Amino acid sequence: MKISTMNIEKIRADFPILSRKVNGHPLVYFDNAATSQTPTAVIDAIVDYYQNYNANIHRGVHTLSQEATEAYEEARETIRAHFNAQKKEEIIFTAGTTHGINLIANGFASEIKKGDEVIVSALEHHSNIVPWQMLCEKTGAKLRVIPMTQEGELDMKAFHDLLSENTKLVFVNHVSNALGTINPIEEIIHAAHQKNAVVLIDGAQAAPHIQADVQQLDVDFYVVSAHKMCGPTGVGMLYGKEKWLNKLPPYQGGGEMINEVTFEKTTYAGLPHKFEAGTPNICGGIAFGKAIDYLHEIGFENIAAYEHELLTYATEKLMEIEGMKIFGTSAKKTAVISFNIEGLHPYDIGTIVDKLGIAVRTGHHCAQPIMDYYKIPGTVRASFSFYNTKEEIDSFVKAVKRAKIMLS
Ligand SMILES: *Cc1c(COP(=O)(O)O)cnc(C)c1O
Repeated sequence: MKISTMNIEKIRADFPILSRKVNGHPLVYFDNAATSQTPTAVIDAIVDYYQNYNANIHRGVHTLSQEATEAYEEARETIRAHFNAQKKEEIIFTAGTTHGINLIANGFASEIKKGDEVIVSALEHHSNIVPWQMLCEKTGAKLRVIPMTQEGELDMKAFHDLLSENTKLVFVNHVSNALGTINPIEEIIHAAHQKNAVVLIDGAQAAPHIQADVQQLDVDFYVVSAHKMCGPTGVGMLYGKEKWLNKLPPYQGGGEMINEVTFEKTTYAGLPHKFEAGTPNICGGIAFGKAIDYLHEIGFENIAAYEHELLTYATEKLMEIEGMKIFGTSAKKTAVISFNIEGLHPYDIGTIVDKLGIAVRTGHHCAQPIMDYYKIPGTVRASFSFYNTKEEIDSFVKAVKRAKIMLS
């Protein structure tokens, strides 16, 4: 797929925010790994919900409630089809990736005991580290960490050595948010299953670029956030194999998640409602479905090919800058460039390019262990989406060069 066959002008027109100015300059939005921008189709779905059929779901007999319920369940079906889950009941709406991971970590507290081992990787986001540390503290299980390499990849030999009969759970992200590395999750899932370990994949960073097929992967749990894939904040999805979701206890008690309540005993609702206590983010769920529809209109293959072009172009241009060091040099990467320039603080670079209208992330990107590994306080992270352009990359490279002159 060549850039010319993706109609970038038309795609950019779908995102109203891209035509605004920041500090007197056209906005260049390169912080897509933190959150993506929202197309009109999704914004319209949000407005439509509140203007026309705002109502609580699953309870009312009235028309608005039925319309809201129908739209919400339709979104669940869109999400199921996208991730190719076998059943709609296996798709749980959450508040996002962090919520999904905590739900599972909490659920396994009663399944795990002292002497068991839980494996995470050195490339994880804090939200895929801390809940497992908490689980280990609660249960006495041991946390083991798959080390990383200089290229920012997982040390797969070390992973295979870590696996043992004691391994109960394995948690790895599909794509590293700090470096963009695409991890070999097929191999990880397969090897973990050989030891009867359960695998959760944090797909937050992969979801905007790669369409994961949960049945083909044979993964036990897969979690994402809508806001990284053109949807709104505060909503996400947890996929779980039915047998696991049936086995695990509910995370929160309340309305929607019960079958019958008396003071003597409460019975829980079936899937997916067992894990969806309280009034959910109805509008967010509906908009999440629209975001997935929108991404399919662009096409995931087109997205991956175009973003790879942007990545290659930006990497070449940035490497021309003296003192440039890029962290995460795996051949398998999404369009993320994490870098530092010798002698300069990432925060200062981020501040100067913002004055020129360019949004990048600076800091540890919620992945301090990676920064510790490289012995750096943080990086500048530019992350691209399918609505970005080579011209924007040119502006960015120019801005970084200017920052370098100003700061040296
Ligand atoms: C963003 C991100 C998270 C956290 O997602 P929230 O939407 O903040 O819950 C977790 N893991 C990875 C890899 C991420 O990129």
